[in-house]
Amino acid sequence: MSKVEDFLTSEEEQEIVEAIRLSELNTSGEIRVHIENSANGDATHRALEVFHYLKMDNTKLQNGVLIYVAINDKAFVIYGDEGINKVVPENFWDSTKDAMQTQFKLGKFKQGIIEGILKAGEQLATFFPWKQDDIDELSNEISKGE
Ligand code: CA
Ligand code: CA
Repeated sequence: MSKVEDFLTSEEEQEIVEAIRLSELNTSGEIRVHIENSANGDATHRALEVFHYLKMDNTKLQNGVLIYVAINDKAFVIYGDEGINKVVPENFWDSTKDAMQTQFKLGKFKQGIIEGILKAGEQLATFFPWKQDDIDELSNEISKGE
Protein backbone atom coordinates (compact mmCIF):
# COMPACT_ATOMS: atom_id res chain seq x y z
CA MET A 1 0.00 0.00 0.00
CA SER A 2 1.35 3.39 -0.88
CA LYS A 3 0.89 6.26 1.47
CA VAL A 4 -0.19 9.78 0.67
CA GLU A 5 3.06 11.18 2.09
CA ASP A 6 5.14 8.92 -0.16
CA PHE A 7 3.12 9.56 -3.28
CA LEU A 8 4.86 12.80 -4.23
CA THR A 9 8.14 14.35 -3.12
CA SER A 10 7.99 17.88 -1.75
CA GLU A 11 9.65 19.09 -4.97
CA GLU A 12 6.91 17.42 -6.99
CA GLU A 13 4.28 18.97 -4.76
CA GLN A 14 5.76 22.40 -5.37
CA GLU A 15 5.67 21.80 -9.13
CA ILE A 16 1.98 20.99 -8.84
CA VAL A 17 1.26 24.11 -6.80
CA GLU A 18 3.15 26.13 -9.39
CA ALA A 19 1.09 24.57 -12.21
CA ILE A 20 -2.08 25.67 -10.42
CA ARG A 21 -0.73 29.17 -9.99
CA LEU A 22 0.19 29.39 -13.68
CA SER A 23 -3.17 28.01 -14.80
CA GLU A 24 -5.02 30.56 -12.71
CA LEU A 25 -3.18 33.38 -14.47
CA ASN A 26 -5.36 32.66 -17.51
CA THR A 27 -8.71 31.93 -15.94
CA SER A 28 -10.95 33.07 -13.11
CA GLY A 29 -11.60 29.37 -12.45
CA GLU A 30 -10.06 27.98 -9.26
CA ILE A 31 -8.30 24.63 -9.35
CA ARG A 32 -7.50 22.44 -6.35
CA VAL A 33 -5.91 19.02 -5.96
CA HIS A 34 -6.86 16.54 -3.24
CA ILE A 35 -4.94 13.30 -2.75
CA GLU A 36 -5.84 10.46 -0.43
CA ASN A 37 -5.37 6.69 -0.14
CA SER A 38 -8.89 5.54 -0.84
CA ALA A 39 -12.33 6.90 -1.58
CA ASN A 40 -13.75 4.06 0.55
CA GLY A 41 -16.47 3.61 -2.01
CA ASP A 42 -17.56 5.56 -5.03
CA ALA A 43 -14.84 8.02 -6.07
CA THR A 44 -17.25 10.53 -7.62
CA HIS A 45 -19.34 10.58 -4.47
CA ARG A 46 -16.22 11.07 -2.35
CA ALA A 47 -14.93 13.84 -4.67
CA LEU A 48 -18.18 15.72 -4.15
CA GLU A 49 -17.81 15.32 -0.39
CA VAL A 50 -14.24 16.68 -0.50
CA PHE A 51 -15.33 19.52 -2.77
CA HIS A 52 -17.77 20.73 -0.14
CA TYR A 53 -15.43 19.98 2.77
CA LEU A 54 -12.84 22.27 1.15
CA LYS A 55 -15.55 24.90 0.68
CA MET A 56 -14.85 24.91 -3.02
CA ASP A 57 -18.43 25.93 -3.74
CA ASN A 58 -17.47 29.26 -2.22
CA THR A 59 -16.36 31.09 -5.39
CA LYS A 60 -18.08 34.09 -6.91
CA LEU A 61 -18.68 32.50 -10.32
CA GLN A 62 -19.07 28.96 -8.96
CA ASN A 63 -16.15 27.91 -11.10
CA GLY A 64 -14.02 25.85 -8.75
CA VAL A 65 -12.60 22.57 -10.04
CA LEU A 66 -11.39 19.73 -7.88
CA ILE A 67 -8.91 17.18 -9.19
CA TYR A 68 -9.44 14.29 -6.81
CA VAL A 69 -6.98 11.36 -6.69
CA ALA A 70 -7.42 8.14 -4.67
CA ILE A 71 -4.02 6.46 -4.84
CA ASN A 72 -4.76 2.87 -3.84
CA ASP A 73 -8.03 2.81 -5.77
CA LYS A 74 -6.14 3.98 -8.86
CA ALA A 75 -9.03 6.37 -9.38
CA PHE A 76 -9.35 10.04 -10.09
CA VAL A 77 -12.23 12.43 -10.60
CA ILE A 78 -12.44 15.91 -12.04
CA TYR A 79 -15.29 17.72 -10.36
CA GLY A 80 -16.38 21.17 -11.50
CA ASP A 81 -18.86 23.46 -9.75
CA GLU A 82 -22.32 24.38 -11.07
CA GLY A 83 -21.21 27.61 -12.72
CA ILE A 84 -19.07 25.54 -15.05
CA ASN A 85 -21.57 22.76 -15.72
CA LYS A 86 -24.18 25.32 -16.73
CA VAL A 87 -22.15 26.72 -19.62
CA VAL A 88 -19.83 24.00 -20.95
CA PRO A 89 -20.55 21.08 -23.31
CA GLU A 90 -20.99 17.63 -21.81
CA ASN A 91 -17.61 16.33 -22.97
CA PHE A 92 -15.84 19.36 -21.49
CA TRP A 93 -13.48 17.41 -19.19
CA ASP A 94 -12.71 14.56 -21.59
CA SER A 95 -9.44 15.99 -22.88
CA THR A 96 -8.32 16.70 -19.31
CA LYS A 97 -9.20 13.18 -18.21
CA ASP A 98 -7.38 11.68 -21.20
CA ALA A 99 -4.25 13.71 -20.53
CA MET A 100 -4.20 12.49 -16.91
CA GLN A 101 -5.05 8.90 -17.73
CA THR A 102 -2.24 8.63 -20.26
CA GLN A 103 0.40 9.70 -17.73
CA PHE A 104 -1.10 7.69 -14.85
CA LYS A 105 -0.97 4.52 -16.93
CA LEU A 106 2.75 5.12 -17.35
CA GLY A 107 3.06 5.52 -13.60
CA LYS A 108 3.84 9.21 -13.99
CA PHE A 109 1.61 10.61 -11.30
CA LYS A 110 3.10 14.04 -10.85
CA GLN A 111 3.11 14.57 -14.61
CA GLY A 112 -0.48 13.35 -14.88
CA ILE A 113 -1.69 15.76 -12.22
CA ILE A 114 0.23 18.65 -13.76
CA GLU A 115 -1.10 17.96 -17.24
CA GLY A 116 -4.59 17.70 -15.79
CA ILE A 117 -4.19 21.09 -14.12
CA LEU A 118 -2.80 22.77 -17.24
CA LYS A 119 -5.45 21.24 -19.47
CA ALA A 120 -8.24 22.17 -17.06
CA GLY A 121 -6.87 25.71 -16.97
CA GLU A 122 -6.85 25.95 -20.76
CA GLN A 123 -10.38 24.60 -20.94
CA LEU A 124 -11.64 26.97 -18.28
CA ALA A 125 -10.00 30.01 -19.88
CA THR A 126 -12.39 29.75 -22.83
CA PHE A 127 -15.48 30.13 -20.67
CA PHE A 128 -13.97 31.91 -17.67
CA PRO A 129 -11.23 34.26 -18.82
CA TRP A 130 -8.96 35.89 -16.27
CA LYS A 131 -10.16 39.31 -15.16
CA GLN A 132 -8.27 42.35 -13.94
CA ASP A 133 -9.76 42.16 -10.46
CA ASP A 134 -9.01 38.47 -10.02
CA ILE A 135 -8.28 37.22 -6.53
CA ASP A 136 -7.01 33.82 -5.47
CA GLU A 137 -10.29 32.58 -4.03
CA LEU A 138 -9.13 29.06 -3.19
CA SER A 139 -5.71 28.00 -1.93
CA ASN A 140 -3.34 26.47 -4.49
CA GLU A 141 -1.85 24.13 -1.90
CA ILE A 142 -2.47 20.40 -2.27
CA SER A 143 -5.07 19.03 0.11
CA LYS A 144 -4.27 15.60 1.57
CA GLY A 145 -6.55 13.05 3.12
CA GLU A 146 -5.63 9.81 4.88
CA1 CA B 1 -8.73 33.47 -9.05
CA1 CA C 1 -6.30 29.27 -6.43
